[in-house]
Amino acid sequence: MTIQTTNPFTNKTVKSFKEMTETAVEGKVAKAQEAFTHWKETTYQHRADLLHKVATLMRVKKSELAQTITLEMGKILSQAEGEIDLSADIFDYYANHGEKFLADKVLDPEYGTALIRNSPIGVLLGVMPWNFPFYQVARFVAPNIMVGNTILLKHASIVPQCAAALEELFAEAEAPEGLYTNLFISGKRASALVSDKRIKGVSLTGSEEAGASIAIEAGKYLKKVVLELGGNDVFIILEDADMDKTVEWAVVGRMNNNGQCCVASKRFIAVEAIADTFIKKFKDALSKMKVGDPMDPDTELGPLSSEEAAVELADQVKRSVDQGAKVLLGGKRADREGAFMEPTILTNLKPGIAAYHEELFGPVASFYVVKDEEAAIALANDSDFGLGASVFTQDIERGKRIADQIDAGMVFINHPTWTQADLPFGGTKRSGFGRELSELGIHEFVNKKLIRVSELNDPF
Ligand code: NAP
Repeated sequence: MTIQTTNPFTNKTVKSFKEMTETAVEGKVAKAQEAFTHWKETTYQHRADLLHKVATLMRVKKSELAQTITLEMGKILSQAEGEIDLSADIFDYYANHGEKFLADKVLDPEYGTALIRNSPIGVLLGVMPWNFPFYQVARFVAPNIMVGNTILLKHASIVPQCAAALEELFAEAEAPEGLYTNLFISGKRASALVSDKRIKGVSLTGSEEAGASIAIEAGKYLKKVVLELGGNDVFIILEDADMDKTVEWAVVGRMNNNGQCCVASKRFIAVEAIADTFIKKFKDALSKMKVGDPMDPDTELGPLSSEEAAVELADQVKRSVDQGAKVLLGGKRADREGAFMEPTILTNLKPGIAAYHEELFGPVASFYVVKDEEAAIALANDSDFGLGASVFTQDIERGKRIADQIDAGMVFINHPTWTQADLPFGGTKRSGFGRELSELGIHEFVNKKLIRVSELNDPF
């Protein structure tokens, strides 16, 4: 396998890394286990101090770290800087709130007393994707370090410099050796590692295939697993939506991160009454996007993360068109060097057409017109995925009623699905299970230990 930095703006490889040997990995797992025996005894204050230090270092090095993101996976530089801010906020958030979230929960049993204590469980394995190289790691790692667990992290092989920089941040913050360890190994080897008795839980963010591979091993070896997988989120536009603002959010929802967000708005569903107005404005906005160098502050749409990703997306569009989809805008690779795809809108999509079912991970929007709200909900739910969804309406009660009927982990009213430290993130159906962030995220890898005190004469 190759672990290397290839700039997707030029498709030139700039740095390669060696995969770790089995002996090296064994040494790192042993260190992570040893670190756990000490880390689980530290105070919450001690753990919070470390998380704050990492957050501070991230902010100090923001510019350098953001440039590494942009170099390795093509994110527009200002968005990469935003990702570093968000990641630092997540570290601070768990440092500030972790102890409160993990406090004993006193129960009120019929007789005697009882409480639930949240104890760490041990070494965890994280398998993370390239699309938010710092944020994805932050939302798994910060809560678990606060819990008292230790971390082995297998990052996507196209962002090795980000992976190494994350480990370096912990070293600079003077974290004990073994608390956070980067593993340069293949996905297959990460799956195989789940069987190691010292690893007590695993969290994967990525594709359904990789998720299933990890979940099979977790099932076989009876380990707790959290999966954050793909999505095909809807963006529903009702007749009473504020059209100009809705179109602005539609562009952000689809094109943020060059179209490569799990929670990107991917299926745009407009009711008949306003469909023509929406699509005219949306198409106009996408066709004016400035495509170019992600390091250039004027650029609005950069390349995909890799040449392979661009080839795959173009193939999904071609298959869809061969099956009957119509191209309203774009539809091809951009005529330039690098992993670029034109901003694209597909329509005339029906069951059986690739774009109706598959996740399109890039700047390609699917557009649907439906008769009314009921038809919009039915179409939204006709998907194997259930990650996020958006509903645009000026009637908030109507928006909430629709949210109730959509099978998704997150429904946003008048906003594209997005994330912040204090809101839970996760999906249902084939988008995975478990939650990250907020108070919910910190409880995924803890032993909720019941401690019961009885009188000797209490009944059995
Ligand atoms: P991917 O190919 O599944 O890669 C994700 C991670 O899994 C990488 O570290 C990858 O390593 C590893 N991996 C690949 N095959 C594996 C296997 N058989 N066993 C164990 N690990 C394996 O996904 P991606 O293309 O990087 O990311 C895009 C996908 O992630 C999209 O579907 C997107 O929607 C989803 N995603 C979901 C969320 C969420 O929160 N729900 C967030 C972001 C992205 P290598 O790089 O070495 O192959």
